[in-house]
Amino acid sequence: MEINAETKIVGLIGHPVLHSFSPFIHNLAFEILGLNYKYLTFDVLPENLKDALKGIISLGIKGVNVTIPHKETVIENLDFVSPEARIIGAVNTIVNDNGNLNGYNTDVFGFTESLKKYKDLLSNTPAFIFGAGGSARAVIYSLITNFQPERIVIANRNLTRAESLVRYFSQVLGYKDFEVKEFFPPEIAGDIKSSRLIVNTTPIGMYPNSNELPFQSDETFHEGQIVYDLVYNPPMTKFLKLAQSKGAKVISGVEMLILQASKSFELWTGKQMPVEEVKKFLLKKLKLRKKRNDT
Ligand code: NDP
Repeated sequence: MEINAETKIVGLIGHPVLHSFSPFIHNLAFEILGLNYKYLTFDVLPENLKDALKGIISLGIKGVNVTIPHKETVIENLDFVSPEARIIGAVNTIVNDNGNLNGYNTDVFGFTESLKKYKDLLSNTPAFIFGAGGSARAVIYSLITNFQPERIVIANRNLTRAESLVRYFSQVLGYKDFEVKEFFPPEIAGDIKSSRLIVNTTPIGMYPNSNELPFQSDETFHEGQIVYDLVYNPPMTKFLKLAQSKGAKVISGVEMLILQASKSFELWTGKQMPVEEVKKFLLKKLKLRKKRNDT
């Protein structure tokens, strides 16, 4: 759609913002639905965050996604923060509601929605999470509030970080069935094997390190498990290929990426993103990119 005086602007603030797939996802959805919106990226240094937020209001920008390093620090500068974003401690979507800046975390929706069809299968079963960073917080919140896990085992390189995460969620959500393990494969094989859901929330396996795996053993994955990799580039990671070859159901980070974007899209436009169509084009784009990088 042609840009004109009525074009509404949304976008992304972060530093860096160069490698984001969000402009592609949102602009494609605007085109498909014929909405007069454009999604732009704004590289905002930490010291300019407050001015950038004022700019959103003064320029009439409809809303923005927020990425590193602003997801946490932005919270104190907003007029409203949704309860889940507050608990997770990260905002990834801001809506400019007539000069009020409202913050949300749509990663929780993305993760929850992508697992919805497995809800009965997952209820009251053990879950295993690799990593204890920002995305792990959204995953843990989603699991506790939607899937009633029997226990959650978290394996992280930095044990102190995982322990403080567990303490925090025990306090705020009253969930006590956590176990923390070191990111040390032989020790965790049994925990993985006995878990129904296994989620990788680390960047291990992400392009260009697509040959890496968070876990190496062939013996741990089996039928009846659901293995989720938050990494979306490549869409089918080596980790997911291994789990699938052992009979597990696998879910790519592309699912969460599109669904969290669809929630932001809805918050800004009031319209539903054509998720399946956008996913088809995104997967094509990722494939083309891989081909280009391989040659
Ligand atoms: P963070 O930096 O907040 O956390 C990264 C976590 O991974 C930490 O627990 C860190 O451990 C661990 N980690 C990093 N490198 C290694 C390594 N080499 N070996 C072992 N552990 C490691 O990142 P995020 O949680 O924000 O993002 C993680 C991944 O999830 C990224 O690939 C991101 O693209 C993806 N993601 C995907 C989304 C989607 O929609 N599909 C949404 C959000 C994120 P330690 O604490 O020891 O440093």
